[in-house]
Amino acid sequence: MLTDLFSRWPLIQQIRTGANGNGVEAMSERTRNLRPKTDGAEVARSICPYCGVGCGQLVYHKNGKLVSIEGDPESPISRGRLCPKGADTYELHTHSARLKKVKYRRPYSTHWEDLDLETAMDMVAERVWETRERTFQETKDGEVLMQTTAMAHLGGATLDIEENYLIKKLFTAGLGMVCISNQARI
Ligand code: SF4
Repeated sequence: MLTDLFSRWPLIQQIRTGANGNGVEAMSERTRNLRPKTDGAEVARSICPYCGVGCGQLVYHKNGKLVSIEGDPESPISRGRLCPKGADTYELHTHSARLKKVKYRRPYSTHWEDLDLETAMDMVAERVWETRERTFQETKDGEVLMQTTAMAHLGGATLDIEENYLIKKLFTAGLGMVCISNQARI
């Protein structure tokens, strides 16, 4: 019993095997049996949603539940690395404080209220159209203008090429907006 305990002592194992103390010789029985939380999970490839760099991510899921989100070693952009923001993407999805309702504070109100998405989208559409109708300039100094500078659009990094194409087409050709920019992927 004592001999067994003694032989499991990391220092003795290190002397016996000639190892440097960083490997299995330094592990307890419990540590040796630990399994990564991604064991047995399915994985899908994705891209970090935060910024224009577009680092590759591996999204692990098991039984329909998200298990972990990690850097993708095969991404030519990030080669397995994620910055602190990207490394927290799992929490972006799972944190208990994540807002899942649209929050709205009416003019002069002192508190936020929940709106359903459809109501919020209708309100945005009405305001966009009202602003466009009120500020659209067909001419200036006798020249054709056909634009409004009263609205601007700043796209986020998660927008893909097709979405940006549609945004540009709708906002410029449809509404006459000229102030449109995007945090494009590199
Ligand atoms: S991991 Fe960081 S650098 Fe990479 S895309 Fe996400 S936010 Fe940008």
